[in-house]
Amino acid sequence: PFDVLVVGGGPAGAAAAVYAARKGIRTGVVAERFGGQVLDTMAIENLISVPHTEGPKLARALETHVRDYDVEIMNGQQASKLEEIAGGFRVTLASGAALTASSVILSTGARWRRMGVPGEDRYLNKGVAFCPHCDGPLFKGKRIAVIGGGNSGVEAAIDLAGLVAHVTLIEFDKVLRADDVLQRKLRSLPNVTVLTNARTTEVQGDGSRVSGLAYENRVTGEIVELALEGIFVQIGLVPNTEWLKGVVTLSARGEIVTDGHGATSLPGLFAAGDCTTAPYKQIVIAMGEGARASLAAFDHLIRLPVG
Ligand code: FAD
Repeated sequence: PFDVLVVGGGPAGAAAAVYAARKGIRTGVVAERFGGQVLDTMAIENLISVPHTEGPKLARALETHVRDYDVEIMNGQQASKLEEIAGGFRVTLASGAALTASSVILSTGARWRRMGVPGEDRYLNKGVAFCPHCDGPLFKGKRIAVIGGGNSGVEAAIDLAGLVAHVTLIEFDKVLRADDVLQRKLRSLPNVTVLTNARTTEVQGDGSRVSGLAYENRVTGEIVELALEGIFVQIGLVPNTEWLKGVVTLSARGEIVTDGHGATSLPGLFAAGDCTTAPYKQIVIAMGEGARASLAAFDHLIRLPVG
């Protein structure tokens, strides 16, 4: 059995594993894909003290750092069940194997919901983006669209309007769902156009980068083409927590509810990074959260009854 079993091998999981292993306790990491969302990222320019890196390079660095320690890495393995047992937890993998641990750190991350339209996957990181804090500066002075009129979409549009030449906000529904105060702010900006009742139908490109998009006006049925250089998709960030329903307290959005120590509703079970209710989903935040959850798990372990 492990003292600490980390489920998830992104920035949060890697940080948790390094911190646990440095305490000299038996540490394991189960990851479907070591590196996590970082693997799908190209330029990373906001990991403080690393002015520029690339996703695959950072993912390798995360793994190398974890492998510097005595950590058992089980890559390519999906956890499918978590149970409380005497003295800790049992994690069952999709392969059927079961692992036990005195404490578990969940760091399964999240995935951005995609539109599912032609061109979206092809131009991912080539104009199609998800994170305004990460990729906004790449579109300085350019024309962009933000897809989605909820709080994240409208926040992204306001944020990006300060950097780019023009923002078109595209909402499927007939009204925006963002808070009124955000909508008022958005409408006060001179370089923002808001389209409602608009269904994005295609991401268009020149073979190497995004050059525009097509949408259907849902009132008239007309298909309209917009020329632009970037598309930020803001239609939801889905936490990878489906397998934890009914086991640990999740928020209405499916995020694992954590406190300031990364503790969840079950003693000995901690969580970190994008899969939790902790706000602002970023690499540097996920790393900090992983470190903190790991220290909290260690605090928990040293308080367990002897024997
Ligand atoms: P993740 O990176 O999502 O890692 C989750 C891990 O859990 C993975 O190893 C996954 O395989 C594993 N996993 C999931 N479910 C299971 C399961 N059931 N069993 C076992 N393993 C499982 N942030 C920045 O700070 N700067 C950027 O420039 C930046 N650019 C981005 C660009 C893109 C295209 C995307 C998608 C995200 C970007 N982000 C950026 C956000 C950043 O990648 C995330 O905030 C960060 O990776 C979250 O780390 P995490 O460890 O919480 O989760």
